[in-house]
Amino acid sequence: MGDYALEAIDIHKSYGDHKVLKGIDLNVKWGEVISIIGPSGSGKTTFIRTLNGLESLNKGTVNLMGKPFLKDQTLTENSSAYKEQIIHVGMVFQSFNLFPHKTVLENVMLAPEYHGMNDKGINQLTAIAMLDKVGMKLHANKYPHQLSGGQQQRVAIARALAMQPSIILFDEPTSALDPELVNEVLKVMEQLAKEGLTMIIVTHEMNFAFKISDRVIFMEDGHIVEQGSPNELEHSQNERFKQFIRKH
Ligand code: ADP
Repeated sequence: MGDYALEAIDIHKSYGDHKVLKGIDLNVKWGEVISIIGPSGSGKTTFIRTLNGLESLNKGTVNLMGKPFLKDQTLTENSSAYKEQIIHVGMVFQSFNLFPHKTVLENVMLAPEYHGMNDKGINQLTAIAMLDKVGMKLHANKYPHQLSGGQQQRVAIARALAMQPSIILFDEPTSALDPELVNEVLKVMEQLAKEGLTMIIVTHEMNFAFKISDRVIFMEDGHIVEQGSPNELEHSQNERFKQFIRKH
């Protein structure tokens, strides 16, 4: 299975001439919970989207469970290594991305669109168990538009869990929610963190990040500028990091 759930080595990404990721290294241990924080535009979302091939890499390597997954232009989202392994990576998006014309249960039973394997569904009992886990079992027969944003996001988390992933990437999972709905989603995520799920979370929720993470990563301008456990970061000497925390 490899020493690490995921290894990202020297990740570079540009859009045209605009360099967004300038050489990022990140090793994620099994069961580790990592939050990525930093100013808007620093590349956080781009980074986690390169980890599962939603954005192509210009340069760098991603290994998953000790196996090659993505690399430069040679191992891409079209390669068989990618197609075999993408199923092990769950993703939760800011905008939920549920199928509007499917029920909650059907949404969880379908593999997410980006896995590119919609013919392979999830067993119904598994789907219901996952809905139960996020407190949404009683809503199984509703449609997304009948749910609040917080409820939709919990369904999206159940859908990611139903794939039994090795790691789940969360891309600003509460940023699209009304403030009063944020906590119900964070509570579910906190529970998953306690259960030992391997998670990488891009978030603006600082208290949450420092409460549940094993490691917090501070990104700025396409680099990891500071990182450490919440305790270690209390004593950070990094001025950019300290300034960012003071403002948030
Ligand atoms: P963050 O998540 O830290 O706010 P992003 O990764 O969303 O930052 O964006 C980093 C930079 O990349 C921004 O300047 C943004 O405008 C640019 N960017 C992101 N996605 C694209 C895209 N698809 N095309 C062009 N530029 C993009």
